[in-house]
Amino acid sequence: MRIPVIAGNWKLFKKQADAAALVAALVPLVKDTVGVEIVVAPVFTSLAAVREKIVGTNVKLSAQNCYWEEEGAFTGEIAPGMLADAGCSHVIIGHSERRQFFGESDATVNKKITAALSAGLVVLFCIGETLAEREADRTFDVLRTQVTGGLSGIPLSALASIVIAYEPVWAIGTGKTASDAQAQEAHAFIRSLVVELYDQHSADAIRILYGGSVKPDNVKGLMSQTDIDGALVGGASLKADSFAAIVNFAK
Ligand code: PEP
Repeated sequence: MRIPVIAGNWKLFKKQADAAALVAALVPLVKDTVGVEIVVAPVFTSLAAVREKIVGTNVKLSAQNCYWEEEGAFTGEIAPGMLADAGCSHVIIGHSERRQFFGESDATVNKKITAALSAGLVVLFCIGETLAEREADRTFDVLRTQVTGGLSGIPLSALASIVIAYEPVWAIGTGKTASDAQAQEAHAFIRSLVVELYDQHSADAIRILYGGSVKPDNVKGLMSQTDIDGALVGGASLKADSFAAIVNFAK
């Protein structure tokens, strides 16, 4: 039984006051929702403001990135332990925007995942193919490389703290969603990779989220797919009512 996760990635939006207002509007809309793990990921500087509003609620706090060292001369970076200290239970790692604009590779993603797990964080580990890769029929090769690289050296005992987010790059922020069948096909493939790398039990247990233009009107179809266990939501998470409608997909 996999508990669905609905996570909002606020990207580079919302200063403290706006972030606090957004989450304050969200909390009452989802307070009676059971059986869904609800996560929001504001920018670093808004973590404290959001944390204050979610104490004692069913909304959890995530960061959007972290570094792989716990401390040292690494100007501008933030350590996983510092995120835990700031009230985060989750961290997004390997988002395609970080891979695309900030040079993140499977190797750096792997280091970050390893460090985040050591700090006790739940990792939202993002993977996904570009449009060119899909059109060249390379989707499964890309997913295999990303999953294998990202999880290299991660022991089976740590898998319970990993949530995989399949986000086809061509569907992020474009308004183009993968069809339910396209998403299901990729998710089933990713789950089969976890069987290969670990075992059937871990593969059955791991949550695999879909991300890429998820909206209130397409979430139900996606969530009805066997291997889709939630959503990582960008644009539609920036408004309390649309994010709440996604969180409440089953109502
Ligand atoms: C994301 O940021 O992870 C994302 C999926 O964005 P959007 O929902 O806007 O496509």
